[in-house]
Amino acid sequence: MLALAIGLVAVMPVGVRTEGSARSEAGPFITRHPELQAALDRIARGSASWRAALAAVAGTGRTALVVTPDEVVVTDAGGTAPSAFDRSEVAAVSPMSDDTGRVRAVLVVVNVDQIQAAHERLSSLPGEFHADLERVLAHEVYGHAVPYLLAGDLSGRCADPAPGTPAAHACAIQRENVIRAELRLGRRIDGTLSSLSLARLLRH
Ligand SMILES: [Zn+2]
Repeated sequence: MLALAIGLVAVMPVGVRTEGSARSEAGPFITRHPELQAALDRIARGSASWRAALAAVAGTGRTALVVTPDEVVVTDAGGTAPSAFDRSEVAAVSPMSDDTGRVRAVLVVVNVDQIQAAHERLSSLPGEFHADLERVLAHEVYGHAVPYLLAGDLSGRCADPAPGTPAAHACAIQRENVIRAELRLGRRIDGTLSSLSLARLLRH
């Protein structure tokens, strides 16, 4: 099973419903969810490092599919399962590789509904919800997906903190913090979700 996730999720996507997705001319990070598209656009406007990554990935012809759990189609030995995304999780990343380990696309699943619901319970300002989406995308897309897409194979794995090691030393956290710094979204210093606004509601 090929799986890489924010920590706890294991998914094996074999297909993603991409009908109606934004045209690929829009760039290598593809979504059809309006909130995710808006967040991707805000990050691109505010972060030069993100724009550089967009250009570099575009040159490879590879793509990141940024989807919600409903869009993930999973099959296992028993046939098609409704979804293998653990809906208690915020997000997950899974490189879609062939038998030789080549990666042509990376699936980024973001549980927008869960994040939005948490903010509604908190009576957050819209800006707080938007900032959390940007933090999640900075980690999942720039932290995990982009290195796979640039490498073109599973050697592009950019790891989360290993147990007992400082989070700030982890590849994915360091990359996330590059984007956060450019967007003034705070600095992540741990491997948990506590730096998200919605962490006040999550039991992590
Ligand atoms: Zn991660």
